Amino acid sequence: MSENIGKPILWIVIPCYNEEEVLPVTAPLFLQRIKEMASSGMISDKSRILFVNDGSKDRTWELIEDLAKSDEHYIGISQSRNRGHQNAVLAGLMEAKDVCDITISIDCDGQDDITAMDKMVAAYLDGAEVVYGVRSSRDTDTFFKKFTAESFYKILNWMGAEVVYNHADYRLLSSRVLNEFADFHEVNIYLRGMVPLVGFRSATVYYERHERIAGSSHYPLTKMLHLAFDGITSLSIKPISIITGIGSIVSFIGFIGIIWAIVVALSGDGFPGWASTVCMILFLGGIQLISIGVIGTYIGKIYMESKHRPRYIISEKTWEPYERHYKG
Ligand code: UDP
Ligand code: MG
Repeated sequence: MSENIGKPILWIVIPCYNEEEVLPVTAPLFLQRIKEMASSGMISDKSRILFVNDGSKDRTWELIEDLAKSDEHYIGISQSRNRGHQNAVLAGLMEAKDVCDITISIDCDGQDDITAMDKMVAAYLDGAEVVYGVRSSRDTDTFFKKFTAESFYKILNWMGAEVVYNHADYRLLSSRVLNEFADFHEVNIYLRGMVPLVGFRSATVYYERHERIAGSSHYPLTKMLHLAFDGITSLSIKPISIITGIGSIVSFIGFIGIIWAIVVALSGDGFPGWASTVCMILFLGGIQLISIGVIGTYIGKIYMESKHRPRYIISEKTWEPYERHYKG
């Protein structure tokens, strides 16, 4: 008992969606890591590995339940349905915030180097409340993924949303930060952009990112574009001022065009310029539709926020499994 005094309790929070191929490979690695860190005296032996099943359609939850039976360090919660990576991480963090000192969120596919956890905990012991895991290189990504990811970070920062370059969702958060974070009630969550808003002392730890151990990425291009658009519109309202700016410029050009047309008509050299008229209508129509789309996205977000729906619903926990009771 006494050897745990002064050692932080760590909960590793791992979202899992259809990961039956990956989990049997990576779960023992996480367990080994937590045991190593505990025996080196860095963290308390009461530390846990919390799997968050995000409504998987395969055997992921059964595997998590089996793991929980096999070793007390493994625990799991299950969401009542698939709500997406960000909500799954949030559900895990909120579960952990009052019972541990620190959390490290990490994907379950083995892409993030788990040895970096030592450096994260060391940075925490040094006084940091938030430690960002940052990829030192993107060598394992395709050129396309690298390019889109880099452009995304640049656009986000330019739009005024503060995000850490090349940082995904591998990070350490102290329970103090998590308790403040619990007061951020928005439904549209984008953790990467929200964590810097909480503040507190932060540090950065660099690590190599590997290939996925098995299975395939749940982020195809369409989902990535969606995440990018969601990230931007959740964190910044700059797109609205950009479209206002574009609208003003286009209207100004249109105004000059009208003056020019009047001058030409008055000078008597007018000719039927239907082609230019049609181009102008299409151009303006396009800009208007895009603008309405962007503004509509914000209104949609206001609508979703105004409902105050729960951001996650936990249906089962390995330590208190759901059992159906009949009244009669
Ligand atoms: N994930 C999740 N819910 C989803 C999609 C993904 O919990 O709807 C989890 C997934 O199991 C993994 C992590 O989020 O642990 C990251 O997903 P993935 O590896 O597919 O994304 P990538 O690394 O390609 O960005
Ligand atoms: Mg991955």
